[in-house]
Amino acid sequence: MKVLVTGGAGYIGSHLVDRLLADGHEVFVIDNLFTGKIANVEHNLGHERFHFVNDSILHTATMEELVRQVQLIYHLAAVVGVKHVVDNPLQGILTNVRGTEIVLELAYKYWRKVVIASSSEVYGKSEKAPLAEDDDSILGPTAVGRWSYALAKAIDEHLAFIYHDRGLPISIIRYFNSYGPRLDPRGYGSVVAKFISQALEGKPLTVFSDGQQTRCFTYVDDTVEGSILAATLKEGEGQSFNIGNNRETTILELARKIKELTDSPSEIVHLSYTEAYGSGFEETRRRVPDVSKAERLLGFRARITLEEGLQRTIAWFKGDYTANPPEV
Ligand code: UDP
Repeated sequence: MKVLVTGGAGYIGSHLVDRLLADGHEVFVIDNLFTGKIANVEHNLGHERFHFVNDSILHTATMEELVRQVQLIYHLAAVVGVKHVVDNPLQGILTNVRGTEIVLELAYKYWRKVVIASSSEVYGKSEKAPLAEDDDSILGPTAVGRWSYALAKAIDEHLAFIYHDRGLPISIIRYFNSYGPRLDPRGYGSVVAKFISQALEGKPLTVFSDGQQTRCFTYVDDTVEGSILAATLKEGEGQSFNIGNNRETTILELARKIKELTDSPSEIVHLSYTEAYGSGFEETRRRVPDVSKAERLLGFRARITLEEGLQRTIAWFKGDYTANPPEV
């Protein structure tokens, strides 16, 4: 099949591309290399079934040329993660809303199936656990920048459902804290990457607040598997899915585990949210996916344990550090 992956040079996108090529598909990638990196797809550049376009999804003409050629679109391109959105709020909203509009408008014009990558962030600060797909989103005030990410992703989901009502096959996947090789070593948007970098550099591991807030960390191979199932199974159409591991881990536990697995002399320190993000930051204390819908309709279940996933990620970070030390 001919497949387009927007954001295919990003952390999740590039793993998806590897899997699609391994499965025999012809893969087209568009990425503006804002957070994506050429290093993530370099190994595929000479591949006869791989085509890379360095451009923005906001360029409709480029997008039209790509959408025309493929049968299936994975739309992953976005300004991702709360920190990037807080630092680039306007670009975040424009890319994440207008970009998805363009993808869906073109998919509708050429009648292509689209998978929209969304985020567990859409649930906002809901305290409910676990979170099921039809649960309420609870967002904070618009004066707090972080909520614009959740809001933009929620609009993307609304748009996708509108096109589905018009008959277009779409599926929505909500990723829960994916981690693995190729995460940005500066830890932009991922506490796992940040703690591993800090541990390998012998710097303090910076746990925010009391570290009792939790996340469900999902190894990237599981993230990719869930994405492919949602894209290819008929049961995935017109639905949103939580794609995540349901094992809940406190941030303090994560720091201790990474310190242990890297055999690091680093100490674990606590910083207040104000020290970490400035004033007015609001945190999501718990975020656990209800995985029953993805399991029932897609047969999806995350399989890689946190220990195994962390070991693989640490091994990659060690190799990558030796090859090219990060600019910090
Ligand atoms: N976090 C932390 N120290 C850091 C970076 C993050 O304690 O240096 C915490 C953060 O407060 C949050 C969790 O780790 O509770 C996950 O943060 P991340 O940015 O990875 O993802 P998200 O908040 O989007 O789930």
